[in-house]
Amino acid sequence: MPTYKQRTKSKELRVFRSLNARMELSSEDKKRYLYLEKGYQGEVLFDQLTSKLTNDLYILNDLCIETSSSTLQIDTLIIAQHTVFPYEIKNQEGDYRYESGNFYPKLSKDEIKNPLHQLNRSKSLLRILLKDLGFVLPIEGNVTFVNPNFTLYQAPLNEPIILPTQLNSLMKKLNELPSKLTNCHKLLADQLISLHQTDSPHSRFPPYSFDKLQKGYFCEKCDSLILSVDDPRKIVCNTCGHEETVESAVLRSVEELVLLFPGIKITTNVVFEWCGGIGSKKAIRRVLLLNYRSIGFNKHRYFEKI
Ligand SMILES: [Zn+2]
Repeated sequence: MPTYKQRTKSKELRVFRSLNARMELSSEDKKRYLYLEKGYQGEVLFDQLTSKLTNDLYILNDLCIETSSSTLQIDTLIIAQHTVFPYEIKNQEGDYRYESGNFYPKLSKDEIKNPLHQLNRSKSLLRILLKDLGFVLPIEGNVTFVNPNFTLYQAPLNEPIILPTQLNSLMKKLNELPSKLTNCHKLLADQLISLHQTDSPHSRFPPYSFDKLQKGYFCEKCDSLILSVDDPRKIVCNTCGHEETVESAVLRSVEELVLLFPGIKITTNVVFEWCGGIGSKKAIRRVLLLNYRSIGFNKHRYFEKI
């Protein structure tokens, strides 16, 4: 069964990724960025496993739904015929211990945010939501640690925790579950997807402004900024050697610009400046004319998404 809803990078992560390359983040913001990045990578790792499942299941990656009282966030939701399985995915690395219901780094007294509490909260919100949508299905959630370098000392036997060494058996269990989906399950999956909000209302960003950000092309491979090119007909990263056509690099840059500055007027000059003044303005204008709706003429010309 192919994944029914794909995961996309959150707006918060995309903004942080761009800002990290274009300005000096405070240590707190940097920590937040790395936390988001690591979390996303853990989720992608889990997706790689679930994408191989062949059983009759709906796999919904990353749901963010505003309910009447709160925001329901589920990293992965698997709908089987008789049960729904929400997974809270964690990508912690290193040694941790479980003690009196809480999680700590092995040698520290500072507990980490309890993923079991997060899971229980999601489960109860999901239960209410399913009921509101008219579905009655048991919910079996798990906190799933996916990093192969994660160890949990004194792991409890009676809590819904899946450790990295148990991922394969989890996949086997999901694949062998008796499951035959009906239209009713499809309706549920479609309704949940229609309620999904792409941008979490809880995202928060560091302050930034166009003038203060470093300009240049953002390498899609290694996240570094490309500040100059030898051959203006293509954009080659000086750090990793990745090559991209001017058209693709300009289009990505415009997307990034609009992500950071929604509502900005896209003009050839703004895009040329944003791309670090690399190559020719003419080439940028050509790309914009080909891919955007052009409004106005000459120096009053600006572009809008088609
Ligand atoms: Zn690169």
